[in-house]
Amino acid sequence: MIEWYNWRRGIIAGAEPNPAHLTLAQHPELMQITQNVDDLLERAGCAKESVIHLHGTITHDRCHARCGFQAPVDLQHPPELRPCPMCGARLRPAVVWFGETLPQYPWQRAEQLCQQADCLLVIGTSATVYPAAGLIHLTRASGGKVVVINTQPSEASALAEVELIGPCSHWLPRLLS
Ligand SMILES: [Zn+2]
Repeated sequence: MIEWYNWRRGIIAGAEPNPAHLTLAQHPELMQITQNVDDLLERAGCAKESVIHLHGTITHDRCHARCGFQAPVDLQHPPELRPCPMCGARLRPAVVWFGETLPQYPWQRAEQLCQQADCLLVIGTSATVYPAAGLIHLTRASGGKVVVINTQPSEASALAEVELIGPCSHWLPRLLS
């Protein structure tokens, strides 16, 4: 399995932020809550503190036994499976696997932000993966507006005040400039 992650790491290392990433990075007042495990928002220029990775980050390894050890990996030359230097358990990519609960702090922070948000931009998601999709309901229930950008109608459509159909690389520069 580590080979698959390391293959993905190589692809991410070679990827460039797209116009949507770059547009978001030009707005430091916006907080980003992402299900993506890559670091393209950060590489586009978003501050680390303003990006919440709900499903973890492939750019790091962490201790599978949750002793607290975490370390960045070189995406171009990712390491093979190796033991945790702190407790001897196995290290693994710091991503959330299917069936695992989301990391606690990012999730709580995301809930808090979605409750307080005047407006939530829901970008490029089918909104079918829970609990992340529940954040849209949270903003609506708290009186915030929901704007959905997606290439096709989705589960989020019914919650949208405004829905923009098309690629986010098309809509975001127009919406936020
Ligand atoms: Zn450990």
